Amino acid sequence: MSIKPNIYDLNYEQINEIISSKGYPSYRTKQIWLGLYRSFWNTPDEFTNLPNNIKQFLENNYSFGSLNQTDIHFSKDHQTTKILFSGPNNAMLESVLMRYTRRRTACISSQSGCAMRCVFCATGQMGFNRNLSNGEIVEQVLYFARHLNKEDDRLTNVVIMGMGEPFLNYKATMTAIDRLNNPDGFNFGARRITISTVGIVPGIQKFTSEKRQVNLSISLHAADNTLRSSLMPINNKYPLQELMKACGDYIKHTRRRLSFEWALIENVNDGVAQAKKLVKLIKGLELVHVNLIPLNPTHGYAGRGSSYEKAKSFSRILEDNKIPVTIRIRRGLDIHAGCGQLASSHSKDSLLVEERKI
Ligand code: SAH
Repeated sequence: MSIKPNIYDLNYEQINEIISSKGYPSYRTKQIWLGLYRSFWNTPDEFTNLPNNIKQFLENNYSFGSLNQTDIHFSKDHQTTKILFSGPNNAMLESVLMRYTRRRTACISSQSGCAMRCVFCATGQMGFNRNLSNGEIVEQVLYFARHLNKEDDRLTNVVIMGMGEPFLNYKATMTAIDRLNNPDGFNFGARRITISTVGIVPGIQKFTSEKRQVNLSISLHAADNTLRSSLMPINNKYPLQELMKACGDYIKHTRRRLSFEWALIENVNDGVAQAKKLVKLIKGLELVHVNLIPLNPTHGYAGRGSSYEKAKSFSRILEDNKIPVTIRIRRGLDIHAGCGQLASSHSKDSLLVEERKI
């Protein structure tokens, strides 16, 4: 049986072409579009404003999403929800919704698995399965939008920091972002979207040239090549010098602030020496921000998250050098929904790590 094309892989013009080739009036396209992206309908039946023949046509020829929710986990405080999805060709992926004061942030995946093999990351430990299509990326966002809508609530932010390396699935990721931005559809502002990369230099360069309003974040984690390569093998391909050059060019050409992610690992990258090297590395860049997050535990890596005191003294060194820095709160650890913990596992042995409010 062949799989029907996913309607979420189509943009407005493509749907319109299909609708007009069938001889249906083009206002039907608009009804379909609004149904998908404003009402978040995901079954043909819900399109009560369409005549039966069009509903039937859609039903017979398109799938209304290719992802199926196979599991759901709520953190104890109910502020974090993790969804496990399955898709065609054995794709397994996870998405997370985080509620924090008024923020409703969807953390979504760009690939099923990941080929980057960062040693501390659960997705890296599982390896790569496949790229997600643009529709599959969009669907994850709509899933949360639909559920929040039922509670009279809405998404405020989207971070592409789930499974996978978005810059190695560049086209689908950007097409998905364009779809979410569409003012006649979901109308989600680019400034509320953040994309995080392991440091794929050609991807950063391409992204720079497109001058998008989307926020960019670089996973740095170490300030010298020896340490960074030992944590993140991609550093062998794109070493710090090249990466920092691409970062500098990004800031120069876009005039946008760039964030650096730094997972603090006890006695690995949380000492004074690394902090000073980090200062040296980024001091010349005008618009930067450093996010420090104590490493979240994963099964395949023995390193531990740094203590709050260690995080504080690391951040003080940055502050003393006028580098804006935030120590991030760890969330959803009890359901393995923290940064780098997504691995589509059903592991029962809880890590018994309490979320620490810092
Ligand atoms: N591939 C992209 C996006 C996915 S990972 C990237 O590398 O940026 C999202 C963020 O979580 C990255 O900064 C990543 O380095 C970080 N991360 C991975 N494992 C982690 C862990 N165990 N604890 C804390 N952060 C982690």
